[in-house]
Amino acid sequence: METKRWNIVNGKNIEEKIQEAAAILKTGEAVAFPTETVYGLGADATNSAAVGKIFQAKGRPQDNPLIAHVANKEQLYNLVTDVPDYVDKLIRSFSPGPITYVLPSNGTCAENVTAGLSTVGVRIPSHPVALALLKACNIPIAAPSANLSGKPSPTTAGHVWEDLNGKIAGVVDGGPTGVGVESTVIDCTQDIPVILRPGGISKEELEEVVGKVMIDPALEHAESKEKPKAPGMKYKHYAPEVPMWLIQGGSERMQAVHDELVAEGKRVGVLANRNTLEKLNVSEAISLGESPEEVAANLYDGLRRFRQEDVDIILCDTYQEIGIGQAIMNRLRKAASRYVER
Ligand code: AMP
Ligand code: MG
Repeated sequence: METKRWNIVNGKNIEEKIQEAAAILKTGEAVAFPTETVYGLGADATNSAAVGKIFQAKGRPQDNPLIAHVANKEQLYNLVTDVPDYVDKLIRSFSPGPITYVLPSNGTCAENVTAGLSTVGVRIPSHPVALALLKACNIPIAAPSANLSGKPSPTTAGHVWEDLNGKIAGVVDGGPTGVGVESTVIDCTQDIPVILRPGGISKEELEEVVGKVMIDPALEHAESKEKPKAPGMKYKHYAPEVPMWLIQGGSERMQAVHDELVAEGKRVGVLANRNTLEKLNVSEAISLGESPEEVAANLYDGLRRFRQEDVDIILCDTYQEIGIGQAIMNRLRKAASRYVER
């Protein structure tokens, strides 16, 4: 299939391009678009054949449910039942934004959106292009990240193109995304909200609004035997082309591991923040920036940029698990083949 590309970064005929992409979505095709977290691969959430095209194009496991994206609170309430009071508070504080509410489905979304679960994840994205597209279609759009299953999520239209050109109807290019890691997924079916996947909104931020927030026990410990309640959390994810080791212990430890591998004849790439890189003597390096927010925004691009033809192994820094650092470390643990602890 020929994949259309609508460039809406340079300001020409934006409204027409959005209308065209929306019309294609309404005919039951899959179209990728930018959100403030990562690029999503969208399809009509009420049409199971359309949703099937998302699973097909991504090679996504059938038991991994999709997030339904809507333009406003009213449309969110139209998909769910039994909404606890704290959800309204969360919506008022964080939506539109990088937060997904898991609530009992009222059956409006197709059964393959929820992968047969009784609940559905719903989110109102804040990216102006995502909102414009949702308003133009006026239907809920199921949209997981627009990458091949298992690979790092896409934060540019170029990443989407690399993975899905020829497999989907189109890509709306709205430039690089902002947050860079996916939404925080919260189970809102209990009296106390439970974080199923850390993301753009941190536990600390949530607790300021609703008091106690729990974390799915399956997330708390890397070696946990608990079954995660977000089915997607159990799959291999975000994997770069070559193996990646996570290195705890700062620049000295990083240099030591690097030098050992180089002595063995390995070509080593380092993915770290600017501060760490300044202290290292290495030949292949990609900077993730400085603040945790910059690291989140640059993370997936960094993971995608190291190629088999250039390096045999990637060494990556670890980050403090507070604020957005929780999401960064969750993704890095999943991307890594080995965790070298202090
Ligand atoms: P993605 O859209 O690729 O970022 O993945 C969506 C994430 O949300 C996956 O980890 C899913 O398992 C999770 N998710 C979506 N819907 C539900 C649901 N109804 N219950 C629990 N987790 C969900
Ligand atoms: Mg994904």
